[in-house]
Amino acid sequence: MPERFPQTIIPEHYDLHFYIDFERFLFIGKQKLLIKVTDTQSLLRLHCEELTISELLFSSVASTIAVTYDLSDGELHIKPAKSLLPGKYQLDISFNGRLNDDLAGFYRSRYTSINGEEAYLATTQFEAPYARKAFPCFDEPAFKATFAVTLDIPQQMTAISNMPEKEQTIANDRKTVSFYTTPPMSTYLLYMGAGDFDFIEEKRDNRTIRVYGVNGKSSQGTFALQFAAKALRFFEDYTNVEYPLPKLDLIAIPDFAAGAMENWGACTFREVLLYVDETTTSVSAKKRVAEVIAHELWHQWSGNLVTMKWWDDLWLNEAFATYQAFRAVDHFYPQWQIWDDFIDGDTKSAFGMDMLSSTHPIAVPVHTANEIEEIFDHISYGKGGSVLRMIEDYIGEESFRKGVNAYLKSFIYQNAVAEDLWTTLEKHSGHSVKDILISWITKPGFPLLRASKKDSSIHLTQQRFTAAKRSNNVIWPVPLTWISAGQVQERLFNVPDCVIHASDGFIKFNEQQTGFYRVLYDKPMLNDLRKAVKSKALHKYDRWGILNDFWACVFAGYANLSDLLEIMSWYDSEDEVFVLRELASQCTEISQLLQLKDNGQKLFNKYRSPFSSALDNLGWESNNQEDPHIKQLRSIAISFLIRAGDNEVKQKALSMALSYLEDGPLDPDIRNACLSAVCTEGTRSLFDLLKRTYERKNNIEEKVALLSTLAEFTDHSLLREYLDYAMTDAIRRQDLRTVFSRVGHNPTCPQLFFQWVKNHWPVLSELRKSHFVYMGLLQTMITTAQDTSVLNNIRKFLENNDVGFEKTKANAFETAQLYIAFREKERSLNV
Ligand SMILES: [Zn+2]
Repeated sequence: MPERFPQTIIPEHYDLHFYIDFERFLFIGKQKLLIKVTDTQSLLRLHCEELTISELLFSSVASTIAVTYDLSDGELHIKPAKSLLPGKYQLDISFNGRLNDDLAGFYRSRYTSINGEEAYLATTQFEAPYARKAFPCFDEPAFKATFAVTLDIPQQMTAISNMPEKEQTIANDRKTVSFYTTPPMSTYLLYMGAGDFDFIEEKRDNRTIRVYGVNGKSSQGTFALQFAAKALRFFEDYTNVEYPLPKLDLIAIPDFAAGAMENWGACTFREVLLYVDETTTSVSAKKRVAEVIAHELWHQWSGNLVTMKWWDDLWLNEAFATYQAFRAVDHFYPQWQIWDDFIDGDTKSAFGMDMLSSTHPIAVPVHTANEIEEIFDHISYGKGGSVLRMIEDYIGEESFRKGVNAYLKSFIYQNAVAEDLWTTLEKHSGHSVKDILISWITKPGFPLLRASKKDSSIHLTQQRFTAAKRSNNVIWPVPLTWISAGQVQERLFNVPDCVIHASDGFIKFNEQQTGFYRVLYDKPMLNDLRKAVKSKALHKYDRWGILNDFWACVFAGYANLSDLLEIMSWYDSEDEVFVLRELASQCTEISQLLQLKDNGQKLFNKYRSPFSSALDNLGWESNNQEDPHIKQLRSIAISFLIRAGDNEVKQKALSMALSYLEDGPLDPDIRNACLSAVCTEGTRSLFDLLKRTYERKNNIEEKVALLSTLAEFTDHSLLREYLDYAMTDAIRRQDLRTVFSRVGHNPTCPQLFFQWVKNHWPVLSELRKSHFVYMGLLQTMITTAQDTSVLNNIRKFLENNDVGFEKTKANAFETAQLYIAFREKERSLNV
C-alpha cells in the first residue's frame, strides 16, 4: 500500500498547458510546477498514472539540478544527484496521455451532433484520485496549490476551466485559451473541458453564472440557471462567506459516472440532472435537479473552500452537502416538501447499509484508490447527513448555523479534520455536542430503542440494531424526542436503559423522524399508536416512521411479519403520498424477497384500498395548478393498482403507454407508471417498439424510463438480448448500472444475470476503471443470488477473478445472506 506523501515537499503553483488531439484521442501536456521543500530530501514523489513522460527538468532558482526518474506503481519518483536542501524549486515536465473513455481522469464523451454526426468533447473527473491520470501532481486533498491552465483545442470548440478566460489566440485551425489563476485548492477540484458547447447565462452580483451543454440543449438549462443563481445567494447569506470566484459554470456532460461533481466554479452534471423541459420533465426529476445543484453549490464552501485533510473525513464534504442541499431547495420550493425525499431517500438508505455488520463508521480509514471510491456511499452521504439533521434538531437552527459558519471561516482556503468541526461547533453554538458527535461519527451502526409500557411508566432500552449477531454493549448518546398528549419532549438518552413517565394515550418516539435510530414498541403501545395512525393524529413523518421501523425490525428478526401485515392495514385511509410510497415499497420488497406468486399480486390487492381511493378522487388528468404531491400520488396509485391486478387500470395505462410509444403525448408524471403496464404484456413486437422509442427520444429522463422498462420483460431470450444490446454503443456506460440492477432484480429470471455475467466476463471486467458501474455490477450480481448454492458459486467465481472492492463485496454478500435467510424463514407466508 503506497504511503501518503510527506508534508515536507509542498506544491505551490502548477502552470499547466494541454494540447488536445481529438483525432487520436490524446493530450500532450507541459507543466511548470513550483515546489517548496522544508526539510532535506533525497526523493521527490509525484502521483502519475497512465502518462508517458517525455522530458523532465528540475531546477532551483540558481541552476538546473541533475536528476534521474522512474515511474512505478502510479508514482513518478525523482532522485536528485545530491540531497535537496530546503528552498524553492521548479519542475518542468512534458508528458502525454490518452483521452480515455473510462469516465475518470481526462476523458472523452461521445454524442451525436444536431446534424447527425458523431462528435466528442473532452472533460475531466478528478475526484477522488484521478488528477494523476491527467498530469503528474501531488494528488492528495491536503496539498492545496494555485493552478494556471491553458488549453490548446480545435478552433470551433469552447474551452472551460475553473476560472474565467484570460486570453485566447487563434492560429492554424487551433485556439489557445488561457485562464486566470485559481485560488489555492486541491487537485481533485481542478476542471478542464473542451467541446462544441453553447451556453445560457445570468449576471448577478458582479459574477456570471452559465449553463453549458452540447447540441443546443443548454436552453433546457433555464430552470437550473435560475435556481443556481438563487441558491448561490442563499448559501452566501447562510454562511456569511462570499462565493470567492468571479464565475460559476454548470456543465452538462453526456457521459458521466456519478451524478454531478463540484469542481470549483465549473460543476459538471449528468444531463438528466441539469436539464428541465417543462413539458416532458416530471416533478420528481425536477426536484432532483434542484437538489443536486444545491448539493454541488454547497460544496463550493464545504469541500472547495474548506477541504477535508484526507479522504477518511470525506463525510465532512458529503454529509454537509447532502444535508444543506435540502435546506436550500425547501427555502425556494416549500410546496415540494423536499424533506420527504431526504427521509425516504438518504436516511432510509443509510439505515439499510448501517444495519450490516460489514458497515463502517462515518469517519473511516482509507488508503487505496478503490477504498476511497467505496466510501462514496450511503454512510458518508445519508448517515452523515442524517446525523447532522439530528444534531441541528438538538441544538437549534441558529446555533447550528453559527457553529457551521465559524467552522467555515476558521479554515478558509485550508484543510480541516473532523475534530475541527466539533470543536468549533461546540465553541460557537453554545451547546455541548462534541461527545455526541464523536460517538455518532466514530461508531459503526445505530441504536434500536425498545419501548415497553407498564402502568404509567415507559421502560426504554438501547442496543445496536443489527440483523446479524446481537450485541448489547454498545450505546449511543441519543438525542431522544417523543410526542405524547400533544406535547413534544426531549432528553439525552446516553445509558443502556431508562424510564419515562407517560400520560394516557399514545407515545411516539423520534418525533418527525429527526433522530438516526429505530424504535420497537411493545403490543400495548402499538395498540395506542394504531388509533393515532388511523385518525392521523400523528404527523406524516411519524406515521411513516412507525411503518418503516417495524418493517426493518421484521427483516432483522426483532418482530414478526404477521404483525407487520396487520400494521400495514392501519393505513387503509392514508392519503399522504409520502406514507403511501412507503406502504408500496414494503409490498414490493416483501414480494421480491419471498418470490411471491404473480409478482405479489395478492399482497398488493390486500392493501389496495388507499390507492384506489386516491385514483378515484384524482382521476387520470392532471392540471398545472395541481400540487406537486398530487401528481406523485396519482402515479404511485396507478403503479400499485397495476400490480394489484386491477384490469381496468392496467388497460387504461397500457393504452396510454402505447399511444406514447407511437409518439403521442403522455403526462410526464404518470409516464413510468403507464410504462410499467407494457412489460407485463411482454411480446417481441412491444420490446422492439420500446427499443425504437428509446433510440428515437432525446430527453434523458424518458430514455432512462424506457431503458428500465425494457428490463422488466419476462421472456428470458429478450432479456439476454437486452443485456447484449446494453454492451453496444447504443447505451451509455453511465446507464449500465441501471440496466444491471433492473435485470438482476427482475423476479422472473433469478439465475439469468449471473449466467450472463459469467459468459461476458472478459468484456465486463474492462469496466473496472469506471468504478461506479463496476461496483453496481458486483452489488447486483451478489445481492440477487436466490439461494446459498448460487451465492457460493458467485463467491468462487469472484475469488477466481480477483475483482477487488472488498468493502462493496462484503456488504453485498452479507445483504444476500440476510435476504436468503429471510426467504427461508418466511417461506410459508400465505398471501
Ligand atoms: Zn458531493
